[in-house]
Amino acid sequence: MIHKALIGIGSNLDLPAENCLKAISILSKSKEVRVASQSSLYESEPIGNPDQPWFVNAAVEIQTNLNPEELLQYLLNIENQLGRIRKEKWGPRIIDLDILDYEGQIINSSTLTLPHPEMAQRRFVLEPLSEIAGATIHPLKNKTIADLLKEQPNFPIVKKYSPHK
Ligand code: ATP
Ligand code: CA
Ligand code: CA
Repeated sequence: MIHKALIGIGSNLDLPAENCLKAISILSKSKEVRVASQSSLYESEPIGNPDQPWFVNAAVEIQTNLNPEELLQYLLNIENQLGRIRKEKWGPRIIDLDILDYEGQIINSSTLTLPHPEMAQRRFVLEPLSEIAGATIHPLKNKTIADLLKEQPNFPIVKKYSPHK
């Protein structure tokens, strides 16, 4: 069975834009996953701990035969492959791959929460996601991604990525 999932991507260390593109490239070459669509890159002000570099964020829609837990392990493996070292929560990272949605499933296990618990409150997630999945309904809010984005405040800043910074 082929399933559809939405993945959020972020990086704020070394070369963040390249790291995001590298992760997308690994996903698109994999046997387990097909990248069906890909957002633009965005740059966003860090939240939580503001004393760290800005993030580059993106979102992709994938097709996969992995189940949600398998997909999570698969994404954590790619994070390790790209050299992510886990330190403090919400600290700087080379790559972060989150499952945002998996066919509207609601899961609360010790390792996986779906939909991603913060996605509806994060402009840096909703902005790229609305490009590729604006009409998708958030299974707990019963609103579209596009409508959730409209409700977001303008700060912290999220804008289209431009390389000359
Ligand atoms: P946040 O969850 O606020 O975005 P984070 O991405 O920085 O924080 P991580 O340190 O990357 O958090 O992940 C910690 C753990 O979160 C992972 O090991 C994983 O088991 C768990 N997790 C729960 N739900 C999800 C999900 N939907 N996608 C990715 N990881 C998840
Ligand atoms: Ca995250
Ligand atoms: Ca994560």
